[in-house]
Amino acid sequence: MRRSLLLSCLAAFAPLSPVCASAPHWSYEGQAGPEHWGELAAEYHTCHNGQFQSPIDIRHPVDGHLPPLALEFHAAAEMLVNNGHTLQVTVDDEDDFQLDGETYSLRQYHFHTPSENRIAGRAFPLEAHFVHQNAAGELAVVAVMFERGAENPALTGLLAALPAQQNRPVVLNRPVDLRPLFPQDRHYYRFSGSLTTPPCTEGLRWLVMKQPVQLSAAQLAVFQQALKSSNNRPLQPLHGRVVVE
Ligand SMILES: [Zn+2]
Repeated sequence: MRRSLLLSCLAAFAPLSPVCASAPHWSYEGQAGPEHWGELAAEYHTCHNGQFQSPIDIRHPVDGHLPPLALEFHAAAEMLVNNGHTLQVTVDDEDDFQLDGETYSLRQYHFHTPSENRIAGRAFPLEAHFVHQNAAGELAVVAVMFERGAENPALTGLLAALPAQQNRPVVLNRPVDLRPLFPQDRHYYRFSGSLTTPPCTEGLRWLVMKQPVQLSAAQLAVFQQALKSSNNRPLQPLHGRVVVE
């Protein structure tokens, strides 16, 4: 039950979900900002007390000979919403991959600017989080960093369809081809972490692609205007966690 509620908050449109509609307000600055998330509600305590929180600065990875991620893409219906915290696209099984002998299917993806995770101290102007789920309801997030460069064709249609108003989901008439949102080199860093937003639930498998993809300065500006302010949680302590590559 808890997992399905979590997914509905993650994947669906918060205001349409009675569970999420009653969730305490939080933000990225001020009295409801990241330093205070753990105090805003009992169900947010993990944001303060957790030992495996995200995001992190990825340093000194251990060589685990991880093979490149074998992503399979398939088209599905998509909806786009600006929920006030992020721009989020909900999908129905648009891609999947195998991890630890399980199939993880994409449920939603969304964006943070600037990036939440860092790679050897380096921040990126944008980070996408592709939230996947297995049959047991466990979550795995594939993160992709964006650097300034060429226009990203996958973002062109997405940003053109951006709703003017917050919390007004729009149906994307043309499916987004996700491939340009992933680097051709599918090697990644892996570690255990959490949701980077309240309730900061732990036990998530994080896979951060090593190679960034590009977006144009104009595309980045559209993200920044739509989100109005930064939506990246500060770095969290490792507490002995190991990053594997
Ligand atoms: Zn995220």
